[in-house]
Amino acid sequence: MSSDLPVLIVGAGPVGLSLALALARRGVSVSVFEAEEDLSPEMRASTIHASTLEMFEEWGVVEQVLAAGSITDRVQYWERSTRTQIAEYSFSLLANDTRYPFRLQCPQNIVTRVLRAELEQLPQCTLHFGHKATGLEDQGGQVCLELSSPTGPISVEGSYLVGCDGAGSVVRQCLDLELSGKTYEDRFLLVGTDLDFSDAFPGMGPVAYIYDPEEWAILLQLPTLTRTVFRVKPDEDEREITRDQALRQRLWRLLGSETDFRIEMSSIYRVHQRVAEHFRRGRVVLAGDAAHINNPAGGMGLNSGVHDAYLLAQTLLRIFEGEQETLLDRYSDDRRQLALGLIQSVSDRNYSDLVIKDWEGRKQRNDKMRAASLDDATAREYLLDATLLRQRPAPFPHPPVRPAP
Ligand SMILES: Cc1cc2nc3c(=O)[nH]c(=O)nc-3n(C[C@H](O)[C@H](O)[C@H](O)COP(=O)(O)OP(=O)(O)OC[C@H]3O[C@@H](n4cnc5c(N)ncnc54)[C@H](O)[C@@H]3O)c2cc1C
Repeated sequence: MSSDLPVLIVGAGPVGLSLALALARRGVSVSVFEAEEDLSPEMRASTIHASTLEMFEEWGVVEQVLAAGSITDRVQYWERSTRTQIAEYSFSLLANDTRYPFRLQCPQNIVTRVLRAELEQLPQCTLHFGHKATGLEDQGGQVCLELSSPTGPISVEGSYLVGCDGAGSVVRQCLDLELSGKTYEDRFLLVGTDLDFSDAFPGMGPVAYIYDPEEWAILLQLPTLTRTVFRVKPDEDEREITRDQALRQRLWRLLGSETDFRIEMSSIYRVHQRVAEHFRRGRVVLAGDAAHINNPAGGMGLNSGVHDAYLLAQTLLRIFEGEQETLLDRYSDDRRQLALGLIQSVSDRNYSDLVIKDWEGRKQRNDKMRAASLDDATAREYLLDATLLRQRPAPFPHPPVRPAP
């Protein structure tokens, strides 16, 4: 009888909302509980890969997401010290692999608003803001979630409970699961400006990784601003470096001139590579940052979290259709292996490539990047992993559609 109860989703970030949409679209009733009064305004992720756009297409939101973002046809790698381009990879090499042979730059806080607008149209979904998960009990045949709500403490029952409540997941803590791994010494500083970098770096495209052993940077052209990500060294003081003048000086160093510009925003993040020891215990499952986190270089976090949601929705649908609950173990094992393997290795390599110090190491990295970019077959292989197209969960062959309750 538990399948008559809604699936409970904790967290209305991109992963919780994706899971809700994937299930509600197939007729499954879902209840989403978000601690905050509204969706997060934080921009955070801005890179949406082709594999994720394909999922958005299946859920009926791709047009809205595309309309809100900027299409990026290539990604570049530069040496800061010489201001020379090392390599450029064109997403057109993926033309036979996806309907979306590009990368979309669209801020996470816009994506979540598109997902919410769609969910609000679906009778199978209820969204509860201001509801913070505080505890849970797996009762065998169903699961009970405890929450603090605007009217005081409440509890709700569901068929399954999915923790999409981010890196500090209460759901994961209730399951007593460790999130083991490492925290980087460096922090990431994000600065949003109206700068155009093409004068300082002639030929610079909309997405560029700028290698430097002392102060690497990542440039991303978003629809409304240019986002520059910088390394923050362990001894730098957060308050000092986010002062207006300090931000300007950091950007002037990169530009090589004291150009005038507007600062739209800045924020600092500590970054980690961590994975939970399991993604499932009984009727409680983890997805997205609640299960695995990685440094943001290359845009693997939100994307892989949405892929978790895609596979988990399929898994729950199959269980509701009568298949064994052990499918959830397969979900847990498959997604955990991917998080520990490719996602950690690609994001860690993206980060460590930025900071290589010795001259010989830098030369080898540059030669390798350049050679790979000049050979279409090798460049395509590189992009298939970088965009998670090779690792995307297979589409559901015959989507069962359940009637609205
Ligand atoms: C600077 C930066 C840049 C990034 N860039 C990229 C990128 O370009 N591409 C990419 O793929 N990834 C990127 N990431 C990673 C990406 O932001 C995360 O992977 C993504 O936000 C994970 O989504 P989520 O839904 O799992 O968790 P979150 O976005 O953290 O959402 C969790 C939600 O749960 C809510 N919540 C928390 N606790 C509770 C509770 N107890 N009860 C109820 N609700 C609760 C929170 O309020 C929040 O709304 C970046 C991250 C950072 C920091």
